[in-house]
Amino acid sequence: MESLKEIIGKCEELAFDLDFKRAKEWKSQDPKRVLVGFMPIYFPREVIHAANGLAIGIMGGGDRKQIVKGDAYYQSYICHMPRGIIELALDNHFEGFDGFIFPSICDVIRNLSGMFRFLNKGKFIKYLDYPQNFEAHIGGVFYKSELQHVLDEIKKINGVEITAEKLNHSIGLFNENRKLIKQIYDIRDKFPWRITAADLYHIVRAGMVIPVEEHNEILNQVLIYIQQEMGVPLDKIRVLVIGAFCEQPPIGLIRAIELAGCYIVEDDFLLGSRWAQGDIRTDMDDPIEALSESYLNNGTFSSSVYDVNNPKEVRLLNLAKERRTDGIIFAAPSFCDPALLDHPILQKACIDSNIRFISFLYSENTGQFKVIKEQVGTFSDSIKLWE
Ligand code: SF4
Repeated sequence: MESLKEIIGKCEELAFDLDFKRAKEWKSQDPKRVLVGFMPIYFPREVIHAANGLAIGIMGGGDRKQIVKGDAYYQSYICHMPRGIIELALDNHFEGFDGFIFPSICDVIRNLSGMFRFLNKGKFIKYLDYPQNFEAHIGGVFYKSELQHVLDEIKKINGVEITAEKLNHSIGLFNENRKLIKQIYDIRDKFPWRITAADLYHIVRAGMVIPVEEHNEILNQVLIYIQQEMGVPLDKIRVLVIGAFCEQPPIGLIRAIELAGCYIVEDDFLLGSRWAQGDIRTDMDDPIEALSESYLNNGTFSSSVYDVNNPKEVRLLNLAKERRTDGIIFAAPSFCDPALLDHPILQKACIDSNIRFISFLYSENTGQFKVIKEQVGTFSDSIKLWE
C-alpha cells in the first residue's frame, strides 16, 4: 500500500492537472465513454456515471494558469474563476470533452455558458437551472426534466440508454464516496492534527477529476491511515471557513489559516462533492426521482440556493455548534455576489449568537498571504487569550 504522503502527492497532481490526463486516458479505453465538464459547485454526477460518462469538476485555473486572453472576455468587476476557465478553453485544455454543464449559480456562470456556445466547445452545452421552489410537484418535476435533458444529450453522443438498475448502482457508488469523505471530516473533527486541511483538500479535489471507483479506493486508504494516531496536537482554535463554495481559495490561503493558529474543522470548499446529506435512495424504480428528492430535502446550504423555509443562517450556526468551533472565517472570492450578499445576514446571526468571526476576500490566484495570516493570527490569539 502507498504511504499517506504518496497518496496525497498523487492527489495533488490529479487535482491540479489542468490537462485532465487521467480523465482523457479513461475515455480512450472505450469509444462509448464520454467526458462531461461541470462548473462548480454541485451537479449529480451519478447521472453521467450511469450513462457511461465521467463528470469532471472544472474549478478554474487557480494560481497555475496565467490569464492573458480570459481578461478580454469579462469586465474587471467580477470574480476571477470564469476568466481562468475561458483561458483553459481557449488553450484547448478541454479537448476531448463531449459536453459542459453550467449549474445556475449566478449570472457569471450563465454568461460563461453563452461564451462556451460562441466558442463551439463540446457537443452540447447545458445551462442547468436548479429549482428555487422546493415543492416536489413543482420544483421536483422541473429538476427531473432538467436531468433528463442532460441524459438525452449524452444518448445522442454515445447511444447509451440508462436503466434504473444502472442509475441505482451509480447512486450507490456516490453514496459510498460521500460517506467516506464525511468519515474523514468526522475524524478530523476529533483529531485535526492528523491531516492538514490542505492535504484533505487535495484528496477531495482529486475526486472531481477521476472515476468515483478510483476515488473511493483512495479515500478508503486515507481512512486507514488517519484512524491511527499521528502528529502532535497544537494549541490552535477550531474554525469553520465559509464563502468558498465556488471559486476555490489558493492552497497557500488554506495553509496560511492553519499556520496562523487555526484548525479548519469545517468548510465549504468543493461543496459539490458533499452536497447530498445522507444517502440517496438506491431502491427506486425512478432513480431520478431519488436524486430530485435528495436535492429538495437533503441538500446542504449555500449562497447559490435560496430556500426560504430552511434559513441558511440557522444552518450555519447549527454546523458551527456541531463542529464545536471557536469562530467562523468568512472567506469569499472578490466580487462574488451570492457570497457577499449573504454575509450581512450570516454575520448578523453570528453577532446575535455571540460567535466570533472575521471576514476577508481572496482570488483563486492570490499570491500574498501575509496580511491574511496576520488577521487570522490576531483572531486566533484574541480567542485564546480572552475567551
Ligand atoms: S465565485 Fe461567485 S460570482 Fe463567481 S462564478 Fe462563482 S458564484 Fe458566481
